[in-house]
Amino acid sequence: MAFPPSFIDELVARNPIEDVVGHYVSLKRSGGNLFGLCPFHGEKTASFSVSPDKGIYYCFGCHKGGGVINFQMEIEGLSYPDAVRALAKRVGMQVPEDEQYQSRYKAQERLWALSKEAARFFYAKLYAPEGAEALRYARERGMPKSTLTTFGVGYAPNTWDSLVKAMKAKGYTEQELIDSGLVTKSQKNGNIYDRFRDRLMFPIIDVRGNIIGFGGRIMNNNDPNAAKYLNSPETLIFNKRKNLFALNLAKKSKLGYLILVEGYMDAVALHQYGFDCAVASLGTSLTEEHAALLTRYTDQVVLIYDGDEAGQRATRRAIPILEKAGLQVKVLKMRDAKDPDEFLKKFGADKFKVLLEDASNRVEYQLNAIRRKYDIREDEQRIAYIHESAELISTLGSSVQREVYGHRVAEEGKISYEAMSMEINKAWKNRQRREKKAQEKIDLAPARNLQPKARTIRYDDVKSARAEEGLIAMAMKDPNLLDQTAGLTAEAFSVPLFAKVYTQMLARRAEGLGVSVAGLEELSGDEASHIAMIAQNQSGPVNEQAFRDCVELIRSRHRKRSVSSDEDLLALRNRKKESGGYHG
Ligand SMILES: [Zn+2]
Repeated sequence: MAFPPSFIDELVARNPIEDVVGHYVSLKRSGGNLFGLCPFHGEKTASFSVSPDKGIYYCFGCHKGGGVINFQMEIEGLSYPDAVRALAKRVGMQVPEDEQYQSRYKAQERLWALSKEAARFFYAKLYAPEGAEALRYARERGMPKSTLTTFGVGYAPNTWDSLVKAMKAKGYTEQELIDSGLVTKSQKNGNIYDRFRDRLMFPIIDVRGNIIGFGGRIMNNNDPNAAKYLNSPETLIFNKRKNLFALNLAKKSKLGYLILVEGYMDAVALHQYGFDCAVASLGTSLTEEHAALLTRYTDQVVLIYDGDEAGQRATRRAIPILEKAGLQVKVLKMRDAKDPDEFLKKFGADKFKVLLEDASNRVEYQLNAIRRKYDIREDEQRIAYIHESAELISTLGSSVQREVYGHRVAEEGKISYEAMSMEINKAWKNRQRREKKAQEKIDLAPARNLQPKARTIRYDDVKSARAEEGLIAMAMKDPNLLDQTAGLTAEAFSVPLFAKVYTQMLARRAEGLGVSVAGLEELSGDEASHIAMIAQNQSGPVNEQAFRDCVELIRSRHRKRSVSSDEDLLALRNRKKESGGYHG
C-alpha cells in the first residue's frame, strides 16, 4: 500500500528528525550534526549521528540509518504504514484513507480503549464491596494503596458476566470483547463469559502507555486445577514476545540499569522497595525482541531469576541473548529466599542492595566456567587454567578490572601476581598482533574492503558504485543537480539499489517533490541504512562539475561493462567452438 508522495513529504517536513529522535535519545550538537548514544546497540561513546539538514540518522557503530520514517519503524518495531500513522498522529495530520489499513488501526484503537475501560472496571471493583476479600489479600501480600495505584491493580469479580455486561453497556460488541482476550466463547453453547474471574488484576501497559493486556493472579487455592497466573492471550494489540511488564514505569527510572525478573509480583515488590527499574517477562522465556526493547533504555541488565533449577536454566539461556543485543549482564543469585518478592519481605531493601552490589558480572561467570573445566591440583591443568583465564582477562577494557581479576586467578593458580600480570600482557600482545594481521589482510584487498557493510548490497563495479554514491549524495543535498543528468538512465547504474533510488528521485523531481531519504519508498532497513550512510558521509564538493563527473564516470563504466560482457560472450563462444561443444 502506498501513501500519496505529497502527503509523505508534508509528514516528513512536519516531523523534524532531530525532534523525533530526540524523544528517544539525548542529543548533543557537534558542528552541523547532533550526536548521542545509539538506541540500537549498546555503547559508551556516542557514535549515533543525526543530520537535521539532510533529514537522516546514521550510526557509525552498528551502521543503522535512514530517514525519520525508518527511525520510527526501527525504534518502535513498526511496519512502514504504522510508522507513518504514528508520525501523523504525533503532529495531528490526517492520514489519507486506506481501507485495509484504516480498519486494522481502528480495530487496534478500539481494543486499546476497551482495555482501558476494563482496567477502570477492575480498579473500581477492588474498592467495591465484592472486592473486600481481594483488597485484604493484596494488603496481606504487603501491597500498600500507593503500589496498587501505581500499577493500576484491580479485581475481576467472581461472576461469569459482570465484565461482559459492563463493556456491552459501554458500546463494545461481543466480537470486540472476544478479540480483546478478556472474554471467552463457550465451545458448547456459544455463549460468551469473562475470562478472568475472582482474580487480582494487573494491567499490562506498553511503553507508549496503552493497556494491551492483563495478568490475573489467583488468590485462594481452592481449585487445584486453576493456574496461579493467567495472562491475556495473544491479540491484535498484545504480543508477549515483544512486551515486558512494568517497562512503562521502569523506563523512567534514574537508577541507570534495568532488573529483569520472572514474575510480575517480583517486579511489583521491587518497585515498592525503591527498585523502580524492575521489569518482568510475561510468562514466556526471554526473546531477542525483549532484548532489543531493553537496549532502548539501558545498556546494563541485572538478571534475577528464581533460585531453582528452572530459573538457573532460564538464566543461562538469557545471558547470550542479552549480550548479543549489546547489553552488559549481571547475574544475581537469590539466597535464603525463592524469589525477590520473598527476599524483600524477609530481609528488606538494604539487604537486597548488598545482593545487588555482589551480583556477579559476566566476567565472573565466565571465569567460574573456565575454573570448572580444570582440576588445578594437577600442574598441567593449573597452567592451562592460568593461560585461558589470562586470555579472558586481557580482553577487559579497564585496567582496574584486569588487576582485580588477575589477582584472583593468581591466588587460585598459586603464582605471583607479577607472573600473572606478564601472562595477561602476553595474551594482550598476541591478540593485538593477530588483529593487526587481520587488518593488514583487509587493507591489502581493497576491492573487498570497499564493499558495503550490509551483506545484502554488493558492489560488482566498485568504481562505478562510488560515482553512483556521489551522484545520489549530491542530488540529495542539491536536487537542482538532477537537471544536469544529461539523459543518464537508471540502466547505466551498476548497483540495483542506486538505480532504484535514482529512478525515484527523478520521478519525484519531475513532480516537484523533495528527494530526501525519508521520501524514498520500498527501501528495506539495510537499504535505507546504506543510503543514509552515503548521505551522511558526503563531504566533498557539491557543484555541477562534480556532479557531471559522476554522470560521466557512470556512463563510461557502463559502456566498459557492456563491451566486456560482449567480449566475454564472444570469447566463450569461440572457446566452445574450439572444443566442439557449441551448437548454437
Ligand atoms: Zn548503533
